[in-house]
Amino acid sequence: MSLAHGRQTLAIPGPSVMPERVLQAMHRPAPNIYTGELIDLTHSLVPDLKAVARTEGKVAMYIGNGHAAWEASLANVVNRGDKVLALASGRFGHGWAEMAQALGAEVEILDFGKRDAADPQQVREVLAADKEHRIKAVLVVQVDTSSSAKTDLVAIRGALDAAGHPALLMADCIACLACDRLEMDEWGVDVMVAGSQKGLMTPPGMAFVFYNEKADAVRAGVEFVSSYWDWRPRTEPDMYYQYFCGTAPTHHIYGLRTALDMIVHEEGIEAVWARHETLAKAVWAAMGAWGAEGPLELNIADPAQRSHAVTSARIGAPHGTELREWLTENAGLTLGIGLGMTDSDDPAWHGFFRIGHMGHLNTHMMMGTLGSIEAGLTALGIAHGGGALASAAAVCAAHKTA
Ligand SMILES: *Cc1c(COP(=O)(O)O)cnc(C)c1O
Repeated sequence: MSLAHGRQTLAIPGPSVMPERVLQAMHRPAPNIYTGELIDLTHSLVPDLKAVARTEGKVAMYIGNGHAAWEASLANVVNRGDKVLALASGRFGHGWAEMAQALGAEVEILDFGKRDAADPQQVREVLAADKEHRIKAVLVVQVDTSSSAKTDLVAIRGALDAAGHPALLMADCIACLACDRLEMDEWGVDVMVAGSQKGLMTPPGMAFVFYNEKADAVRAGVEFVSSYWDWRPRTEPDMYYQYFCGTAPTHHIYGLRTALDMIVHEEGIEAVWARHETLAKAVWAAMGAWGAEGPLELNIADPAQRSHAVTSARIGAPHGTELREWLTENAGLTLGIGLGMTDSDDPAWHGFFRIGHMGHLNTHMMMGTLGSIEAGLTALGIAHGGGALASAAAVCAAHKTA
């Protein structure tokens, strides 16, 4: 007998909860891909995606996941033998770097560990030492979904500028686009990659590469760009099929159209960011209270380095796994596993969990997640401080509505 019977909630850091309206928009027969509404819908995604990214640059759309976006971005700017500098604040920074290596790039990794954002000062030093400007691109993950560390892209841009270095600034915003603030143009990001399944509230399956003129000039100098990953035909299609180099992701287009209506035209991106900020702060408030008397701890100590899309927590083995399993069995709530903190065969692996709070999320969903965690801590006899839910509720109560 369990209290899990009811609507199941997935609070993992992607795929995120999808709005009913997005699901309903996708529930239809296959549309014609040669003429008719699908063509107009596809064109209409472009300005709204750019509005979410805050760019006047271009956006290439792909059928693919986040890894596809990684590969697409690299395929357009990196020749075999080119050098790139990758900044890692958790597992995902290494993932993008490994992909660059597999494409034949020479990769230097600046590793900031699992509990800190990238340090702009160190980036500046490495770039300043690169007198011949061999480094062609700096790869940075805005929010590393494993550690939940958020790197200040403005400060990284500042490091490139202070070093007088011409490398492209390439940002992975897959975890946090439409959750954490991003001003692609104002912040001087040259290439930005994202996916459909996190802040954009659509199933996994669409990948996006945003780029500016500087990046496209680099693209012009790349010797071989595979025709599938080439961003140019996708952003300047003479014929409709070129948008996706083949059949369009028909149903994703309907789903994403509805999601962008909700984000850009109904709520507004500023309000979306503000909502995520408050709900993230509610999580931190609860975790701070629980952690006052017990093993629970936020992975990222500095609030300025914490994401508004995902929170990584440490609770000591085996409590992380115990808590996740208890919640799935007794509360209908699934939390994220700890990712990249230890090897999966290390007993310490069971000491972590993550809460995804990206996309379609409101006060009652967030408070339900936190209240369920409190029940789990109590049921399992894991020591924790009191007042967590009251603290989280106070954060939500103080949210300023425009
Ligand atoms: C989810 C994620 C990825 C990978 O996306 P997939 O769709 O799993 O390929 C890459 N980077 C970040 C920051 C992510 O959050």
